[in-house]
Amino acid sequence: MQEERQEGARGLDPQDWGALRESAHRMLDGMLDHLEHRRDVPLWQAPSPEARAAFDMALPRAPAALDAVHEDFRRHILPYGAGNTHPGFMGWVQGGGTPVGMLAEMLAAGFNANCGGRDHIGHEVERQITRWMRDLYGFPRTAGGIFLTGASQGNFLAVLIARSRALGPEVRREGLGGARLTAYASAEVHGCVPRAMEMAGLGRAALRLIPADALGRMDMAALAERIAEDRTAGCTPFLLVGSAGTVNMGAVDPLAALADLAAAEGLHFHVDGALGAFARLAPGLAPLLDGIERADSLAFDFHKWAQVPYDAGFLLTRDEAWQYDTFAADNAYLARAETGLAGGSWWPCDTGPDLSRGFRALKTWFTLKTYGLDVLGAMIEGTCTLARGLAERIEAEPGLELAAPQGLNIVCFRPTGDLDGARSSSITEELQCEGRVAPSLTRLDGRPAIRACITNHRTTAEDIEALVEGVLRLDRAPD
Ligand SMILES: *Cc1c(COP(=O)(O)O)cnc(C)c1O
Repeated sequence: MQEERQEGARGLDPQDWGALRESAHRMLDGMLDHLEHRRDVPLWQAPSPEARAAFDMALPRAPAALDAVHEDFRRHILPYGAGNTHPGFMGWVQGGGTPVGMLAEMLAAGFNANCGGRDHIGHEVERQITRWMRDLYGFPRTAGGIFLTGASQGNFLAVLIARSRALGPEVRREGLGGARLTAYASAEVHGCVPRAMEMAGLGRAALRLIPADALGRMDMAALAERIAEDRTAGCTPFLLVGSAGTVNMGAVDPLAALADLAAAEGLHFHVDGALGAFARLAPGLAPLLDGIERADSLAFDFHKWAQVPYDAGFLLTRDEAWQYDTFAADNAYLARAETGLAGGSWWPCDTGPDLSRGFRALKTWFTLKTYGLDVLGAMIEGTCTLARGLAERIEAEPGLELAAPQGLNIVCFRPTGDLDGARSSSITEELQCEGRVAPSLTRLDGRPAIRACITNHRTTAEDIEALVEGVLRLDRAPD
């Protein structure tokens, strides 16, 4: 008995690799089947009571066969996804993922590198992505970059970096010391920016929300006025946030004018490009982002328009030294060596907030290399063409009206005469429950509106038509 256990003691690896291989191939084939036939099954359905109950079990003390656990996955998880891999998904701002990204994620999990530090090739992949993004966005050689969960974190880091630039790295030890730092963004800015101000201890009220024009872009005159007022009142303006694609309307702030003003006022100029930064890949759209190359920092998401599987957020900075000033620390257990595993000079734990980190760079590198930027750019341009087609279809349809001008890949609309937005709300919910197309809901001018954001590379004109038909049908249906 004793001997048997010793012979069998191989940690958690399988006794029988052959059997594991068979299970592994079945799991992979099952997932590829799922992706290949995405259009043939409902986009979304609420998890069944049985499925929910499957996740209310006692602690699993005893082992179970991998195939049995996979069967649980097939029955209780796979049918109840978030819908964003389906061609009819048009809600919020979500990418659809790709089979290539999925395979790369599997390789990354097997490789299981901790990308927080130490000397290994994972950092070279991340540095490669940083150099590619530096070149794509026209940043200088001093640029730095780092993978994060998403643009919410990217925007948060930008606030911290801007704070260090304004008050000096001593702010990390001394705190704000009474400084009244104020930041500026359009009223259309994403909610994670005020939250970043909260998390940084600066307070949401210190973010001045500047009115936007009819197209959703920041009003430059109102911005200059507010900065002057704050200076007079003894505040220290330190950060200007431009949006490259607002979440409601796909509006792009006047980035070049913002860059000029930030330079004149000595502000850190950050761009939230979560939604729209990859418009830069599409020749027909790139000019909309003119001025983005002058940003001090730029946050964006590979998991949205670039279709890398969740999660893959990124922050690009104009000068990597600002990241060191904000995050690097001297801890004995992380001491560096000349050679060996503790060697290497670039440790992401010096340039961002995380220590243990997964290998997000790998699925991104696979995606960019395998598809190539030209194909990704054409796909991105295609989603905007679909959005334009949808807007034209709505304008020509007496039963529907635009709720805002179409911007980038976003169209907001309502059934004609839906004064309180009640029909828009109920139709959006009903469409999601039907599982053919899924727009989301937003508020414009204080009223609910149906919002379609074509981020998913699988969406086609057929899906756009299904959306229009679905809204018209449900609007006619008796309640
Ligand atoms: C999605 C989004 C964010 C937040 O990004 P996450 O990746 O979800 O953290 C910020 N700003 C805009 C404009 C977005 O669309």
